[in-house]
Amino acid sequence: MPAIDVIRRHLGEAGVPEPVVPKQTKPDVVAFVDVHACIACGLCAQHCPADCIEVLPAATVEGRDPQPVQVRYPECVGCHICVEVCALLTDARAIRTYDSNLIEQVLGTEVTERRDPVGQTPEAGDDYWAEGGGFHHMGEGSCIEDQLTDEDRAVLESDRHSGGPTK
Ligand code: SF4
Ligand code: SF4
Repeated sequence: MPAIDVIRRHLGEAGVPEPVVPKQTKPDVVAFVDVHACIACGLCAQHCPADCIEVLPAATVEGRDPQPVQVRYPECVGCHICVEVCALLTDARAIRTYDSNLIEQVLGTEVTERRDPVGQTPEAGDDYWAEGGGFHHMGEGSCIEDQLTDEDRAVLESDRHSGGPTK
């Protein structure tokens, strides 16, 4: 069984949608990446059912090549898959989810049930979502780690990624 199936099975009770889903309801949470912790492996983007995680444009984060990823949060459906992938299949633990009400307050925006605007280039957001940033401590990391069986952990371990970008 692929590691992503272990993650999806544990998240399934929370209603993880099948890929690829259009956004239909306002999510309770949306995800952001700690761009300094991200090792740019790309695994989260591969498994995001909303296809809303992208590599930041060149030179966005100084000294990084390749650049880390960030979430186009207006398109995020809050499924938590990226958080689990990053926490359980890499050493980075670079993604957390944040309460949508907090996002609206902090960014002066509205998190809606609509998927638009689609394709907006995300910003690094390291003043907010990175270690030492204003709201990093308010995001949620893995919520399934404590539920994993030894068998689950063995599957996850076989798919762990500790290097740079995946090919
Ligand atoms: S899985 Fe984590 S480390 Fe890998 S690209 Fe996504 S945020 Fe970065
Ligand atoms: S929570 Fe993560 S995987 Fe799920 S839609 Fe949002 S960015 Fe994509």
